[in-house]
This record gives sequence, structure tokens and C-alpha cells, in this order.
Amino acid sequence: MSDCIFCKIARGEIPCRKVYEDDDVLAFHDIHPAAPVHFMLVPKLHIASLMQAEEAHAALLGKMLLLAPKLAKEQGLDNGFRTVINTGKGGGQEVFHLHIHVIGGGSLPPM
Ligand code: ADP
Repeated sequence: MSDCIFCKIARGEIPCRKVYEDDDVLAFHDIHPAAPVHFMLVPKLHIASLMQAEEAHAALLGKMLLLAPKLAKEQGLDNGFRTVINTGKGGGQEVFHLHIHVIGGGSLPPM
């Protein structure tokens, strides 16, 4: 989507602090970190939210989930981390391009 901020980041039109990139997925640090380590995994394909995810996206979503612990460890989160996917306005989602938050490195409040 041309006006989506995460699509623009994925296309390199808006800078980011990159954590990881391959043909399908980009990971970058959150501009307003909620903890000492806070990055997001986004698919390069524009999927607005988990509510728009389809069977055809299963491998992509699985890839993102499996990347989360790998990248978290590379960012020093050896002791664990939190993953959050805000979905829809009711779920607190503000950027409507599916993303997985990976948060850690401090004491996190209970959910
Ligand atoms: P919330 O803001 O409630 O966490 P989302 O789950 O939609 O809602 O998360 C969007 C996230 O994207 C926010 O944590 C925000 O700080 C982050 N963000 C917005 N713009 C940028 C940007 N240009 N670079 C990095 N992170 C960004």
C-alpha cells in the first residue's frame, strides 16, 4: 500500500533502525520503545492486521513467529521476552500493517 508507513519503511522510503531483513520480512526497532529492547517484525506484504490474515499467509506468519526468538536472542534477550500483536482498533492497533512487537530487557508488568 502506497501510503502505509510500514510499507514505506519496508521499501526503504522511510529510515528505520533495522534488526533483520529478508525477502519476506523486515524487523526494526520501535521509535517509541516500551522497554530497553523493543523491535517489531513486519511482513513486507501489506496485511492490515491479523483479522485480514488468510490461509495463504500461514507460512509467512510462521516464519515471523520463528524469527522472533532468534532475533530476540541476538538482541540480548536471553532470559525471555514478550510478543504482542495488537489487532484492530479494539486491540489497540494504531498502525494498520500487521506487526509483531518483541519487547524485553527490563521488568515487564503482568499482562
Ligand atoms: P501501539 O502504538 O498501541 O503499540 P501498534 O501495535 O499499532 O499500536 O504499534 C505501532 C508501533 O509502531 C508503535 O509502538 C509505534 O511506536 C511504532 N512506530 C510508529 N511509527 C514508527 C516508525 N516510523 N519507526 C518505528 N516505529 C514506529
